[in-house]
Amino acid sequence: MSPTTTPCPDQSVLLALAAEDVAAPEDRSHVAACPSCRRTLRRLRAEVVHLRSTAWAERPPPPTGQTPLDDPPDE
Ligand SMILES: [Zn+2]
Repeated sequence: MSPTTTPCPDQSVLLALAAEDVAAPEDRSHVAACPSCRRTLRRLRAEVVHLRSTAWAERPPPPTGQTPLDDPPDE
């Protein structure tokens, strides 16, 4: 199965990849092989950077490669 034969993922998938670097392995493979999705991803990344520098200025970006575990214990 070649990654180029998979359908383009939804834009929300590309947005999650752009914003949080979160995507299913098959979506990652597709984006890596699909010029159209790479272009969309690059545009979304630019938008995310812009948003983080403005609207989300108070919140630090989540650390990459980590799952946030900020669920407090119920006591
Ligand atoms: Zn695509």
